[in-house]
Amino acid sequence: MKARGAESLKAMAEKRQQICRNVPPCPECATRQVQLVNVSDDFPLWKCRHCGNKWNGKTAQESNQ
Ligand SMILES: [Zn+2]
Repeated sequence: MKARGAESLKAMAEKRQQICRNVPPCPECATRQVQLVNVSDDFPLWKCRHCGNKWNGKTAQESNQ
């Protein structure tokens, strides 16, 4: 069994930085004043500071099809 704690923390931090470079506009009010609430797996959770809307980053991307 490997100790993955530090690795996953580092991976999480890198993923978070990467995600924060591509801040999506709020689907409701189109502001970019949004906050990254949570990063779990491939599902970044965003919250709009302007209207309080919460949405899933992956869902927003996949609704493009
Ligand atoms: Zn909004």
